[in-house]
Amino acid sequence: MNRLQRLRTGEPHVVTLNPGDRVDPSTVLARMTYEHPVYTPESVAAQRLLPTLRTPVTVYAGAYHGWGFHEDGCRSGVEAARHLGART
Ligand SMILES: Cc1cc2nc3c(=O)[nH]c(=O)nc-3n(C[C@H](O)[C@H](O)[C@H](O)COP(=O)(O)OP(=O)(O)OC[C@H]3O[C@@H](n4cnc5c(N)ncnc54)[C@H](O)[C@@H]3O)c2cc1C
Repeated sequence: MNRLQRLRTGEPHVVTLNPGDRVDPSTVLARMTYEHPVYTPESVAAQRLLPTLRTPVTVYAGAYHGWGFHEDGCRSGVEAARHLGART
């Protein structure tokens, strides 16, 4: 996390998804619970309708437009910018 978040500290900051009992509790800064989006036939069908929400001045972007990964967020952001007139 030091490099990713450009933390100005010599202390190593690490994120882990591994079992918490293998980490010294005195070193834990925060614990968070995340849930991965659930993809169902209905949600995938609804996803195809997301572009119909666009207007000339409003557009939506996010990893939820795809499979929930970084690339999906990036791709939908680029598409949103193009829709609003950005050119590469
Ligand atoms: C622990 C973890 C590890 C991951 N590892 C990977 C990986 O290795 N590779 C990969 O491809 N993906 C990974 N992901 C998934 C990836 O991080 C997400 O898919 C991506 O960050 C989603 O980007 P986003 O911009 O769509 O949403 P987010 O990054 O969630 O951004 C949404 C933003 O909207 C803000 N917001 C929410 N509600 C409001 C509101 N009402 N008003 C104003 N702002 C609001 C939030 O504060 C947030 O800043 C990981 C996710 C987690 C949690």
